Amino acid sequence: MTTNPTDKLREDALYYHAKGRPGKIEITPTKETANQRDLSLAYSPGVAEPCLAIAETPAKAYDYTAKGNLVAVISNGTAVLGLGNIGPVASKPVMEGKSLLFKLYADIDAFDIELDTTNIDEFVRTVKILEPTFGGVNLEDIAAPDCFAIEQRLKKELNIPVMHDDQHGTAITSAAALLNALELAGKQIGEIKLVVNGAGAAAISCMNLYVSLGVSPDNIIVFDKDGLLTKDRNNLAPNQYKYTTDRCPANWTLTDALQGADVFLGLSVGNVVTGEMVKTMADNPIVFAMANPNPEISYDIATAARPDIIMATGRSDYPNQVNNVLGFPYIFRGALDVRATEINEAMKLGAVHALADLAKKAVPESVSRSYGQELVFSRTYILPKPTDPRLLMTVAPAVAKAAIESGVAQQPITDWNEYDLQLSR
Ligand code: NAP
Ligand code: MG
Repeated sequence: MTTNPTDKLREDALYYHAKGRPGKIEITPTKETANQRDLSLAYSPGVAEPCLAIAETPAKAYDYTAKGNLVAVISNGTAVLGLGNIGPVASKPVMEGKSLLFKLYADIDAFDIELDTTNIDEFVRTVKILEPTFGGVNLEDIAAPDCFAIEQRLKKELNIPVMHDDQHGTAITSAAALLNALELAGKQIGEIKLVVNGAGAAAISCMNLYVSLGVSPDNIIVFDKDGLLTKDRNNLAPNQYKYTTDRCPANWTLTDALQGADVFLGLSVGNVVTGEMVKTMADNPIVFAMANPNPEISYDIATAARPDIIMATGRSDYPNQVNNVLGFPYIFRGALDVRATEINEAMKLGAVHALADLAKKAVPESVSRSYGQELVFSRTYILPKPTDPRLLMTVAPAVAKAAIESGVAQQPITDWNEYDLQLSR
């Protein structure tokens, strides 16, 4: 009897999580604990000294505790991966995984925190009273529209960086891909016609960032489950209403809208776009079909329909994966390193340009080798690969600089050579 590959993956994944000590992360002491003397410094009576110093000057928590390198990965499990509302405890493997990626890529320590609530006030209040512990908060896998209100309120009420990665990580990574795709297609961002399928957490944030980069809101057409977002729709949240239109007939379908479109952005569900639809798009069509695990149109069908396509998906088994891991570790690294009070638009744009520029630089041989192909800026390589070691040294300083220039850095970096050295250690 042969084993089905899905069964094999399931078995391997469960074994991976269960083997040894269950789960994927643990805590490691950072100071010597060899003798009684060390322990009297680490704990009573010595520990009273940093307590007193912090009581007098709260910012000294960054000098005497792990706060400045500690991020909370917080979810209520209401929109987990493509699995939906599986609840807080079932989301824990994902949040542990995210914590692992923070450590692996940016040496940031992260605690996963799963909250058993779907009440916005309760969620916000809980995170707010956790602020003393953390240097930053990564909100994760919280369903729309609640995620918008939760993030907005926490950004306002907390004095540490807060980012909902499903919204902004996706926006930042895909925006870098968009800039590079437009360059290859020879198109101006201010002139492109953009058609978007999906008006949820990821799509709305992507559109907001693309508009910051120069896309005209008048050139965007959006669809959700109920069809075209028109001005007379009455079931939309304010941040969705921004993208309604009265420029085309209310009964327009995705098929109608895609005719002559320059860019398709899919953040909805799999298999809703056909090869025939892609054939009607403008020259050098840009198709970001990012529904997971099955894109709006498969890579094979889309590329067969249009040899001149520039395509990205959320999948690692095709070129141009829009992977949030290209963003969040380095965005938080840069934000923490200057003690930014928030992650603002300027910092996001700093990350976008740093990522886009990196994809145009010669790729280290070690990275190309690990993917078994030469990686050169082209239609099939518009974003850096997650294992590219230059990401940390490129994106984190860009974010830190943008934080300083936009006035949200409480501890600006002055010696950039020293900072580079610190990152490379
Ligand atoms: P979300 O907040 O639930 O939003 C989903 C949106 O898709 C909603 O606006 C929904 O409409 C719409 N939708 C559902 N079925 C549709 C259909 N048949 N036609 C048109 N629109 C439809 O989810 P999200 O977090 O934004 O994520 C959306 C998708 O993108 C998921 O598949 C997710 O895995 C993927 N994603 C990928 C990446 C990546 O590749 N890096 C990152 C983020 C998200 P209603 O509002 O009417 O329900
Ligand atoms: Mg997520």
